[in-house]
Amino acid sequence: MGLARAVLDLLLPPTCAACDAATAGGLCAGCAEALPDLALPDHGFADLGDGVTAAGAYAYDGVVREAVLAVKLRGRHGAAGPLGRLLWFELGLPPPARAPWPVTWVPSTRATRRRRGVEVPRRLAGPGAVALLERVRAGPDQTSLDAVGRRAGPRGAFAARGQAPRRVVVVDDVRTTGATAHAAGLALREAGAERVLVVTLAVAPAPARAAAGLSAPSS
Ligand SMILES: [Zn+2]
Repeated sequence: MGLARAVLDLLLPPTCAACDAATAGGLCAGCAEALPDLALPDHGFADLGDGVTAAGAYAYDGVVREAVLAVKLRGRHGAAGPLGRLLWFELGLPPPARAPWPVTWVPSTRATRRRRGVEVPRRLAGPGAVALLERVRAGPDQTSLDAVGRRAGPRGAFAARGQAPRRVVVVDDVRTTGATAHAAGLALREAGAERVLVVTLAVAPAPARAAAGLSAPSS
């Protein structure tokens, strides 16, 4: 179904990822109006330890949650670019093509890539991002684990592709426990990076983690 919708996206007039109203961008004007209220006041900053820090643009709620689910589960791949531009804008960071540091993304598992037809974090990062990480194992199914299991889950799931740059920014779609962000960052730290900043479009609030169920982000 994802691929069919992605193909239809090429033929149909573009619509809002969150509500399906006609619009030229990723979100219609009405949904975009809700964004300031979802912006995280402290940029979702979190020190994940081991020289890995995290930042996030929006709360994983409302139109942001709808748009993320549309991209990840309903094949609205065309919205990923505009959502990625919102991420850079909201965090006040230059996009990869203009950034003075390398920008990479959290690689999806092969199964996820095949199922979705795209690598969503890579699309969010946008042009100019470079592949610095690879999945060395798939890891357990994040949606079926409790918080403790998820925290342990992604550890060791990533490896750097060679020597890492000293400072690097990593893009992912949603942060929940921070375990995936930490695991991805740690892989770059172990390959020589001194500082790693993992940025996500959204950060899931605590209640959503418990009730996330099947629509849960990867972690
Ligand atoms: Zn809308």
